[in-house]
Amino acid sequence: MNTVSDYDVAIIGGGPVGLAAALCLDEAGLSVAVVERADETRWSQAAFDGREIALTWHARALLERLGVWSHIPESIICPLREARVETGRANHPLVFDADQPHGSPTGPLGWLVSNNMIRRALYAEAATRPGITLLPDVTVETLRQDGDAAVIRHAGGRLRSRLAIGADGRFSPTRRRAGIGAVIHDFRRVIMVCRMAHDAPHHNVALQWFDEGQTVALLPVNGGASSLVLTLPADEIDRLMHAGQDAFNAEIVERVGGRLGAMRLVSTRHAYPLKAAYAHRFTAPRLALIGDAAVGMHPITAHGFNLGLRGAETLTKEVSSALSQGEDFGGSAVLRRFERHHRAATAPMFAATNGIATLYTHDAAPFRALRSLGLRVADALPPFKSAVTAMLMDRGPKQAQG
Ligand SMILES: Cc1cc2nc3c(=O)[nH]c(=O)nc-3n(C[C@H](O)[C@H](O)[C@H](O)COP(=O)(O)OP(=O)(O)OC[C@H]3O[C@@H](n4cnc5c(N)ncnc54)[C@H](O)[C@@H]3O)c2cc1C
Repeated sequence: MNTVSDYDVAIIGGGPVGLAAALCLDEAGLSVAVVERADETRWSQAAFDGREIALTWHARALLERLGVWSHIPESIICPLREARVETGRANHPLVFDADQPHGSPTGPLGWLVSNNMIRRALYAEAATRPGITLLPDVTVETLRQDGDAAVIRHAGGRLRSRLAIGADGRFSPTRRRAGIGAVIHDFRRVIMVCRMAHDAPHHNVALQWFDEGQTVALLPVNGGASSLVLTLPADEIDRLMHAGQDAFNAEIVERVGGRLGAMRLVSTRHAYPLKAAYAHRFTAPRLALIGDAAVGMHPITAHGFNLGLRGAETLTKEVSSALSQGEDFGGSAVLRRFERHHRAATAPMFAATNGIATLYTHDAAPFRALRSLGLRVADALPPFKSAVTAMLMDRGPKQAQG
């Protein structure tokens, strides 16, 4: 079979950013196809993958506007009241909370929602839209771009569109197919994520602890549990991934310094090699890269998905403005504008995140001294703390004043 289907836009990758982009472009009045290699069940009912996504105010507002937020059960949305950063055993924490006198108005810093539930909600909403065609179980074989169309070939036929979007993750095959290179920063560490139930309450506080030899984050989730995010060299993570449950629980209590009392593993364990990626270009003829395919962030600043949503919005804004002026929405002028704006929005955050991650994963004495000093100086600077709080919350200038 070699049927050709025509759409305004074809998106490769039905992850959270690809689906969000589909919804944004549908709202702009375009017909959209989303091509995903997972089968329909794994796509619509995405399984727990360990990630708890800290959503900013801006991300929540967008998900509400797109009709996605209402698909997320309220019982699994965990408000984040405070974020603490600690280094070594000195225990001089840097505390960010939404209510600090120099900070933004009251309210949570953000919300934690598990990645698979965000994915399910996005899918559920996309499935209700007549303008969006969801194509599961499709593996792209080739992508060809010519003067006025992009053509995706797969085993079941071809998709022709005015614009193709690569949203297929940080090791994006689409990026490679288009001949676009990427800066890949390999931190030579692996992150393990899982849920631990515990006896002591977490009070909706997230902890990021740069300890000697390990980095630990404890993120509050509902139901008397926290998400453990542990960063270690690959061999140590491999051992922990296979450790028996009792030995695992005991080691984690020890590693987190008994902060939350007795702890019990209550989920599957998931490991992610720490590699950040930044594409050399975000566009090629008739092609835009978004999400991790364009900017694959180190998770330490919890901004990958939030920036992915920004990319989907920026691209939609440029496409809509081209449509309203009768311009070719997949043409090079539109793509250039998208690329300029999205690079400006992401490059500083990408560089800063890599800097922080490097500083905090090296254990040589100068690095230890520098980070301890860094936290003390930062804590003594209310304007700095307000600026970081505002960035974490991303409420936008209007709301921040209100
Ligand atoms: C441990 C961890 C914690 C994180 N915490 C946060 C956080 O707190 N806040 C935050 O904002 N971000 C966070 N992130 C980052 C966030 O998870 C990612 O930025 C986000 O998932 C990227 O979405 P995406 O749709 O671009 O890519 P992906 O989620 O990688 O989805 C890509 C999709 O494309 C599909 N695909 C791949 N290749 C093909 C192909 N050839 N054809 C068809 N389909 C294909 C895949 O099956 C997948 O469905 C975290 C990441 C990790 C690892």
